[in-house]
Amino acid sequence: MKEVEVESFKLDHRKVDAPYVREAGKIITPSGDVIKKYDLRLMQPNQGAISTAALHSLEHLLAKYMRQRIDNIIDLSPMGCRTGFYLSKIGETSLETIEEALVTSLQEVLATKEVQATTAKECGNYRDHSLFGAKEYAQQVLAGFKE
Ligand SMILES: [Zn+2]
Repeated sequence: MKEVEVESFKLDHRKVDAPYVREAGKIITPSGDVIKKYDLRLMQPNQGAISTAALHSLEHLLAKYMRQRIDNIIDLSPMGCRTGFYLSKIGETSLETIEEALVTSLQEVLATKEVQATTAKECGNYRDHSLFGAKEYAQQVLAGFKE
């Protein structure tokens, strides 16, 4: 079996200061394209976690809002520990640009009236959503970015 290193397993989660945006990986494809992965940490590890319904709604909302601000996003997925999201994209983007997009996207969450794609046809667990929770956590994260 091939030896692999998982970047996030090497991160000392006791030493980070959330919320933050961090580069978590970079791959150059055989054809020379750059693929970047970013750690969008919303909650302080081992001190807080976003409830599953709020995280799920944030995933639906940020999937759209981040793509409206950043081109060539491959994926935005919640972390299993529920403290943030991983963002994968094609091409280099500065941490400042990602953070600015995240902050304005979270501000847009606060103004959202409805979570999109929450029917049994469109979602794998349509019953497990909370726009109220998404807004509460978004507000908390935004306050953290201002500090
Ligand atoms: Zn869903």
